[in-house]
Amino acid sequence: MGNCAVVGVNWGDEGKGRMVDLIAEDYDVVVRFQGGGNAGHTVVNEKGSFALHLLPSGIFRKGVVNVLGNGVALDPENLWLEIQALRDKGIDITPKNLRISDRAPLLMPWHRRLDELEEERLADKKYGSTKQGIAAFYSDKYQKKTVLAGELFYPDELRCHLKDISEWKNLILTEVYGAEAYTEEMLEKWISDFCEPVKPFICDTGAFLREAAAEGKRVLFEAQLGALRDLDYGICPYTTSSNTLARYAPIGAGAPTVVPDEVIGVVKAYSTCVGEGPFVSELFGEEGEKLRAEGREYGAKTGRPRRVGALDLVATRYGAEVQDASVIAVTKLDVLSCMETIPVCVRYRVNGAETESFPFPALLAGAEPVIERVKGWGCDISGARKWEDLPEAARSYVDMIEKAAGRLVRYISVGPERDSIIIREA
Ligand code: GDP
Repeated sequence: MGNCAVVGVNWGDEGKGRMVDLIAEDYDVVVRFQGGGNAGHTVVNEKGSFALHLLPSGIFRKGVVNVLGNGVALDPENLWLEIQALRDKGIDITPKNLRISDRAPLLMPWHRRLDELEEERLADKKYGSTKQGIAAFYSDKYQKKTVLAGELFYPDELRCHLKDISEWKNLILTEVYGAEAYTEEMLEKWISDFCEPVKPFICDTGAFLREAAAEGKRVLFEAQLGALRDLDYGICPYTTSSNTLARYAPIGAGAPTVVPDEVIGVVKAYSTCVGEGPFVSELFGEEGEKLRAEGREYGAKTGRPRRVGALDLVATRYGAEVQDASVIAVTKLDVLSCMETIPVCVRYRVNGAETESFPFPALLAGAEPVIERVKGWGCDISGARKWEDLPEAARSYVDMIEKAAGRLVRYISVGPERDSIIIREA
């Protein structure tokens, strides 16, 4: 067993946090390599129920070192609030079990503000952003107009750098959006309130990861969101602003030579999607409501009701492929126990022709689902711990996912608790 990446095959919220929490005990290091605090992993374990936004899901495991890599959108404000909230619930977070890359760019207060302003400007054409400033942050990262976390150790240089960037940013805020400018005092306060407290966690995580790998320690890479939200391979423009794919993990983690040997692609037993954009297998009416309530599909960060849909085999096939998943974890199978027959999207109809291939993003809005209904199992499966414990119909359902994804389904999750899992060997 070597290093592993846990990544989403669908639109996100597949239950990656639950899978990381399950297997983290076999790893020495858990790394978040992309994304920001805009989404949430929900983890339920013996310590309670937690919504994690930026912190890696290994934070609950003793002896595990958690890393926020250079690929993340490091929001000191939200991170500090999250650390404090977890500490209040008795979780130990120290520079020993949390390390932040000195190369991680900082999400600035104006990023969140710009996100709000742009969504307001877009009005009914908005992207459905969580307004956490992620898109504004990544745009600035690629324009090289951000501050790296490690710059906090060089206050004089940092002040000059901030002055230059804020001059430019204030022009956009005031001239383009007619909003208020950020003053030096506001930025000083932000530094002392939120950056100073997280400073003790900042270090050269690349060196740490290389050393850990040389000592034979095992690294688990944890992604945010899923394949269909990947900036390059997702449903453009309704993607996130970073790469959610396993292949990006070593780059965003901070040590390109430390690579995953295995990729666990997480597939939810039905579909959900947060925010705007095409969602071909979406379910409406009573069936959708029932699934949403049964699966508790409300955003961990925003509390927004998630859009729900039938399992989408077209998107799942594509997602497993672009993630280059080695094995699949199917989550939330228990939720489908409430349905007598289960709708499954087996193909798309695009411009009058049926296809199993995931279409170019511009064609998605006009794509229609080809739905087939499969037999439900009509009983509670949350107590199943072995493959044989599952009813025949539930096994067929998993087999169908395995066939579409073209990969072994090794894990089947039948509840949010850590031990509500079936592990199948090849
Ligand atoms: P992530 O961002 O991919 O980690 O996913 P989220 O945490 O946003 O969403 C997954 C939700 O489903 C969480 O509330 C989990 O506790 C819950 N969950 C995960 N696996 C299962 C499962 O097998 N059954 C049920 N009923 N809930 C699950």
